[in-house]
Amino acid sequence: MSAEDFQIEDKIMATFAPSSEVELDSRLGFQAAEFVRTHHRMLIDGNFVPASSGKTFPVYNPATGEVICHVPEADHNDVDKAVVAARRAFDSGPWSRVSPSQRGQLLWKLADLLESHTEEFAELESLDNGKPVSVARIADVPLAVDLFRYMAGWTTKNLGSTIPLSAGQDFLSYTVREPIGVVAQIIPWNFPLLMAAWKLGPALATGCTVVLKLAEQTPLTGLRLAQLIVEAGFPPGVVNVLTGFGEPCGAPLAAHNLVDKVAFTGSTEVGKLIAKAATGNLKKVTLELGGKSPAIIFPDADMDTAIAGAASAIFFNQGQCCCAGSRLFAHEAVFDQVISGVSEIAGKIKIGHGLDPATELGPLVSEEQFEKVSAYLSSGREEGAKIGSGGGRYSDRGYFIQPTVFHDVRPDMKVVAEEIFGPVVVAQKFSSDADLEKLAAQANDTVFGLAASVWTRDISIAHKMARRIKAGTVWVNCHNVFDAALPFGGYKQSGWGREMGAEVLNNYTEVKAVTVKL
Ligand code: ADP
Repeated sequence: MSAEDFQIEDKIMATFAPSSEVELDSRLGFQAAEFVRTHHRMLIDGNFVPASSGKTFPVYNPATGEVICHVPEADHNDVDKAVVAARRAFDSGPWSRVSPSQRGQLLWKLADLLESHTEEFAELESLDNGKPVSVARIADVPLAVDLFRYMAGWTTKNLGSTIPLSAGQDFLSYTVREPIGVVAQIIPWNFPLLMAAWKLGPALATGCTVVLKLAEQTPLTGLRLAQLIVEAGFPPGVVNVLTGFGEPCGAPLAAHNLVDKVAFTGSTEVGKLIAKAATGNLKKVTLELGGKSPAIIFPDADMDTAIAGAASAIFFNQGQCCCAGSRLFAHEAVFDQVISGVSEIAGKIKIGHGLDPATELGPLVSEEQFEKVSAYLSSGREEGAKIGSGGGRYSDRGYFIQPTVFHDVRPDMKVVAEEIFGPVVVAQKFSSDADLEKLAAQANDTVFGLAASVWTRDISIAHKMARRIKAGTVWVNCHNVFDAALPFGGYKQSGWGREMGAEVLNNYTEVKAVTVKL
């Protein structure tokens, strides 16, 4: 049988089916298959180990709901071992003696290794998370590679300053930036590899050591990355990678007394728990949380661009982005055109298994998310929202949701007020009477403040809106544009601190002021 004889579904089943007895056949063409079938281990103190309890938990393919493999289920004992290893590596181990330049070389090496495995990582991400492999190949993996390279450059530029004292000439004062220490990092499932990179990059660039807890729904790329971290030559204990659930693994990690800082990305609800857990030893906390970001279309915008952009703002990654453009505001003069345009795009999106090269929209990550988003679809209907497109599940197998456009919505509706984290947009109209102040107030009428996009040809409106919007990111005539050099993070309940850019380095360093009486 040749690989061409397989339909894509058969090919996926033959390679990744739960109890697949099929011998691995290189003609099947999936580079991720070998890793998926290995005996998965966590990385603690330079060794690949099972959970100390011996327990494992299943990993699911969200396109079929089937189990694809099992990974170790870490608990507080494993957390303890990992934190002690990270502590030792930081305090007395090799990491404290590694020069900034060597740290940069290690990060660069990691980036090179990751890049050389792009296809394997894209497939793993697609299989585990559900996202289209075509997207993972051009977004998730290259952005992670780029982040490591960008951070490699910062290792040698972690500068302090000299400060003139008003007390007189007889003093020399300067500041140094020192690594904060042992960092606990807890990440979500929507961009598993990229979130790992966002977290690891700045921690390692500044000289911290890390215990990284992967999301229980999507542990595969993080476990594979752990192998590359060892291959790149990071000393034992510098990066420890755990697989486990929130309560038994994430909570003791966030509360651990030997941890100096916790960096979390996930839901606002869990973010608040993390902040509380950190109070025991007052460890530093950064949080990258939820959003309900507005996309605002003015009547003078280039309509083709704005409509396609608004659709992509919400449907990218199945809407599972904290900065998804989930509240669409369009001027009354163009509202109908926008709704029909976005709905038409939604109706044409090719939905399917992420590993199918033709797929544009995959399943949601898990049954739990599927149930959650389905409940919002029912709630929207019950509260009287009109449906422009979608509104239900797609296929009776896997966790697929149709891209959905709700319009004629009111601010008090649950679908308008709450983060849905699925491919569901709520559209509202604004009139010519609404001045920018009023419109910005509407856009800001949310507990979140992560991102926004403004679509207009008028440079003055664009900047006036950018100034008025209370969010960490404002895009003009674009949405979901990321760069390792651009800081990202939220106002209000979208979080504390920033990821990426030079800004993130401040979150991983302590500043020491040294004053010398000459
Ligand atoms: P989602 O609701 O989108 O699944 P969560 O905020 O629940 O996102 O999860 C994000 C990350 O936080 C995951 O790695 C998860 O295991 C972890 N987590 C969940 N609950 C806790 C907790 N109480 N303490 C620490 N980490 C947690």
